[in-house]
Amino acid sequence: MKTIGILTSGGDAPGMNAAIRAVVRSAIYYGCKVYGINRGYKGLIEEDIQEMNLSSVGDIIHRGGTVLKSSRCEEFKTEEGRAIGVEVLKKFGIDCLVVIGGDGSFNGALKLSQLGFPAIGIPGTIDNDLAYTDYTIGFDTTMNTIIDAIGKIRDTSSSHERVNIIEVMGRHCGDLALYAGLAGGAETIIVPEVEFKVEDVCTKLKTTQKRGKRHSIIVLAEGVGNAQDLGKEIVKETGADLRVTILGHVQRGGSPTAFDRILASRMGVRAVELLLDGKAAKVVGIKDNKIIDMDINEALSMTRDFDKDTYEMVKILSI
Ligand code: ATP
Repeated sequence: MKTIGILTSGGDAPGMNAAIRAVVRSAIYYGCKVYGINRGYKGLIEEDIQEMNLSSVGDIIHRGGTVLKSSRCEEFKTEEGRAIGVEVLKKFGIDCLVVIGGDGSFNGALKLSQLGFPAIGIPGTIDNDLAYTDYTIGFDTTMNTIIDAIGKIRDTSSSHERVNIIEVMGRHCGDLALYAGLAGGAETIIVPEVEFKVEDVCTKLKTTQKRGKRHSIIVLAEGVGNAQDLGKEIVKETGADLRVTILGHVQRGGSPTAFDRILASRMGVRAVELLLDGKAAKVVGIKDNKIIDMDINEALSMTRDFDKDTYEMVKILSI
């Protein structure tokens, strides 16, 4: 009988709980023992660990955040920190680990596997910034949260005939801005992957104003730059009545969508099956709606292709 450890690490994402539930339930189904490690690698080093049972993960599939808590842990980036981690895992009789998080957390899992401790990664991050998988857990929920916010801002933007800049998360990845902007009917979408000129944004505003459109939504990915500064430049150039909304942490919370719950459940079960097959240093992903797995090394070395076709399509639709 294997003993599996599970932790969530890095930025939290809606759907992490559904993944924890899937790992715990499938592991128990297959006759394994499961330990939940609280607060990511930090909790591992500090021995903040408890055994999980079927009811530990009851009533959580619909809840945002992570019941195991998450954190960032600088100490785990050091050899000494990881050596303590491995000792703690051994002390609790844990044979292998499931890590739910982003690329940083996967690096931690890779380093553990290189120390001979099998670890499997599940992509839990709202940013959708991992090249090897079509979707990460949390992205869909956050996209829907942004669409909801865009709709509300659009109402008031329309009443007051204003231009609104809405800054969304995603770090260096423009997926949240692109897809939420498309679904929210934004006139302009600005992402880190595509160079933009303020004058082009202003020209577009002036053109649409000429044809009688008095309000406009600009979705800006946080990785591009400061929304307030951009707003000032646009006001200077166009004289628009403009407001800036930085959506912030509201984007990280909320009940996961059906898509994220199903994705997390499928990935969680695959992660356990991989460990039972004796696999290590793998990540689980989804490609063309099929659950896949890949070596962590290979997954982390891949570079993301930005969806330029969709980006260009938005330009057509927001003419
Ligand atoms: P997100 O980007 O969604 O916030 P992430 O997993 O990329 O998630 P990071 O802060 O990069 O978030 O990493 C989370 C934790 O993973 C770090 O605090 C650290 O404990 C561990 N980690 C990151 N990089 C490494 C590394 N090179 N070696 C060992 N551990 C690492």
